[in-house]
Amino acid sequence: MTESSARKPKKIIPNPELPPEKCQHIRILDCDQPVQRVFYECYHCLQGLLSECSGKPVVKEFKGRDQVQEIKVKCPNCGETAIKLITEKVLSTTVIPSPWAE
Ligand SMILES: [Zn+2]
Repeated sequence: MTESSARKPKKIIPNPELPPEKCQHIRILDCDQPVQRVFYECYHCLQGLLSECSGKPVVKEFKGRDQVQEIKVKCPNCGETAIKLITEKVLSTTVIPSPWAE
């Protein structure tokens, strides 16, 4: 089978998702409670967010190495991955006014 000569235009992705490397505000409350509250800003749009998490970090074997499970939290505002949390479960994510907004 040959490839079709009519080439489809390449899909341009405006903002490829990058791993969170730049500085991101985050504050974790209730670390000693069964449910932790994590205040942070979306990595992409800086929307203030509050996620409730429960459980301990989950270590999974990946390609023969132990890796800590990271849960990608989707931003309700921009739809991108707002943050990656090392926890077992993310119970809820709520849009809040950013505590760091000026
Ligand atoms: Zn966002």
